[in-house]
Amino acid sequence: MTKRNFVTVNPCVMCQPMGSVLAFKGVENSMVMMHGSQGCSTYMRLHLAHHFREPVDIASSSLSERGAVYGGSENLKKGLKNVIERYNPKVIGVATTCMAETIGDDVPNIIQEFKEEAGIGDDLTRDIQIIPVSTPSYNESHISGYIKAVDAIIRHITPAGTEKTPNGKVNIIPTEHLSPADIREIKQITSDISGPYILLPDISDTFDAPMQNDLPKIANGGTSITDIADMKNSNASIGMGLVNHNPAVEYLAKTYDVPGLHVPLPIGLGNTDTFFETLSKISGYQIPEKYINERGRLLDTMVDVHKYLYGVRSAVYGDPDKVTGIVSLMLEVGMYPVLVVSGSKSPNFREGVESLIGEIRPDCETTVLDGVDFDTFNDAIRSIGPDLLIGDSNGKYISKAENIPLVRVGMPIHDRVGAQRLLMVGYRGAMELIDRITNTILEAKEMEVPKMQICPI
Ligand code: SF4
Repeated sequence: MTKRNFVTVNPCVMCQPMGSVLAFKGVENSMVMMHGSQGCSTYMRLHLAHHFREPVDIASSSLSERGAVYGGSENLKKGLKNVIERYNPKVIGVATTCMAETIGDDVPNIIQEFKEEAGIGDDLTRDIQIIPVSTPSYNESHISGYIKAVDAIIRHITPAGTEKTPNGKVNIIPTEHLSPADIREIKQITSDISGPYILLPDISDTFDAPMQNDLPKIANGGTSITDIADMKNSNASIGMGLVNHNPAVEYLAKTYDVPGLHVPLPIGLGNTDTFFETLSKISGYQIPEKYINERGRLLDTMVDVHKYLYGVRSAVYGDPDKVTGIVSLMLEVGMYPVLVVSGSKSPNFREGVESLIGEIRPDCETTVLDGVDFDTFNDAIRSIGPDLLIGDSNGKYISKAENIPLVRVGMPIHDRVGAQRLLMVGYRGAMELIDRITNTILEAKEMEVPKMQICPI
């Protein structure tokens, strides 16, 4: 919010239930129901469909004026019945919207009533997990919606007090949405270094599905309920993200003695090294030669592009753990992150970024902002004048207005194709991101963007 505004203008985050949709769509055979007005689910469906270029179904309890006055219990029960009959899901995530939270509907209680009225053991409710998540969007953002949903899924499917049978697996639990390509890469790395694993939520297929003759009502893929129930038996859990911690990691540690470790998102050389070392330590296996070679190629790439990237003053914005990872990569290739912005208010963001920059490039004057909207971001861009922007496609307006090239990363990316295939994690992801940043700079130079400063080495 700027000094002249008393409200948020163009938020730099998505709404809280959107985060819960991203999490539930990573569970096998699951549907999401928004408890609120139809507009909420329509907005989320369009937003996700434009980003992933996939059909996205989200149900709605379709509250209107009547529901707002008398409560939405009746609508929610009808909606649940319809979803079960039409989609036959194994999991239904019920996320509340602003309206449902404002009228104070007790969603867990309504779900319990729905089950009792349908009759326990009745075909309608048998084997269906209905998981409520409270996501009032006037409080926090899609980041917390994602974390809350993952936590709720694990607690619901793995309640306390059940038997443990060690399975020799490792749990991977991201605290922030990653692209389907990123999830595929993390799965491959984990399997190669650590063997069997359980990753939740797994959107690698559900948001990037192959073409099929008969489109399934619910996209194939996602983490199975059996695997989620098996997470309590794993050797360890790795929570991906340091700015935000997923309480699911602590829940499994406290309730089932599954040791929990937190690592940064593996973006850039150092963060990817940390992820590999953590997996290798847990499994006791060596890092395969394939990855030693990939690491060597990344170093070679960094040497190749150093003359183009050194000293480029850049602004990066978006989700806090992603932004922190990108800052780490920028410092590794000699860039100057002069403006670092997260739209959500996150506890360790500012400190984490400042200490990272202070350690590697203390001469870089950086402005770090968190919990701000695009209005404030735009003011900061105008006053700091970076050479390059790195963030989602919402930054395209300031990019155009100020004639600053934009490298599109994160979500949403609505004005380009291929967001689901953008790889950012691991050594390969770092190479791809470095190439995109460098080529954007070279292209801008060719177009003679007057502000662009390229190191003349
Ligand atoms: S901000 Fe609230 S009202 Fe708007 S789409 Fe999100 S949940 Fe619905």
